[in-house]
Amino acid sequence: MITRTQLISKCLDSGRSATPQRMSIIDELCSSRKNLSAYDLRDSLTNKGHSFNISTIYRVLDFWIDVGVVHKLDSTNTYLVCNDSHTHHFHVLLQCTNCKTVEESCQVSAKLSLPNSNEFSIKDGQVIEIDGICKNCE
Ligand SMILES: [Zn+2]
Ligand SMILES: [Zn+2]
Ligand SMILES: [Zn+2]
Repeated sequence: MITRTQLISKCLDSGRSATPQRMSIIDELCSSRKNLSAYDLRDSLTNKGHSFNISTIYRVLDFWIDVGVVHKLDSTNTYLVCNDSHTHHFHVLLQCTNCKTVEESCQVSAKLSLPNSNEFSIKDGQVIEIDGICKNCE
């Protein structure tokens, strides 16, 4: 799992700053250890005494996606902290359709090869979602 120092250096590397707002929101997503919707995040932050409106949460999540720390799962409109620091391959999220657990697999990712960049240039920050049944639910 990514550390606070790594989070801050990711911001600095991309020329952005780690504002208290950005840090509170990413801390909350990191501590949940599972994928959350923007509304889930807002609710748990509210319980801790932070009041962020939903558009702020979306904006900050977009920031963390941009920086390469957070993945968005389009199928469920939820967000997950990246668990694979590699940038040379796709990020693959294995999603259990039974218990809804999402796991990022570097092993699976490493097997997929990227198209040649002069054939097709891939947008940054994309993930591949694969639906199936996890080990615990088999
Ligand atoms: Zn990732
Ligand atoms: Zn499962
Ligand atoms: Zn990897």
